[in-house]
Amino acid sequence: MTPEERFWSHVDKRGEHWRWTGATMNTGYGTVRWNGRMEGAHRVAYMLSGRELLRGDIVRQRCKIKKCCRPECLYVGRKLSGSGSVGRARSCQDRGPEFEPLLPDPA
Ligand SMILES: [Zn+2]
Repeated sequence: MTPEERFWSHVDKRGEHWRWTGATMNTGYGTVRWNGRMEGAHRVAYMLSGRELLRGDIVRQRCKIKKCCRPECLYVGRKLSGSGSVGRARSCQDRGPEFEPLLPDPA
């Protein structure tokens, strides 16, 4: 079994959204050992869809399902640089860092 096959064996593709069924982090995102280190399952799914992921890139789900690994739901953003994005106080508990969505990849 290749690492890629092993990865997808932890994903339930039966529904509209492909839910990660393996281990999860306390943030609610799936986690998997990948290339010798722990990586977010959705990040691995994004890379396996043939797209490049740079350090500092943040992968999020359009569908807001943290365990969703369907490539169509995944998009990458980068952290905003602080000022200008300060809104009302919000809980850090269930929100990730601020990020700026990029335009989706051209089909
Ligand atoms: Zn989804």
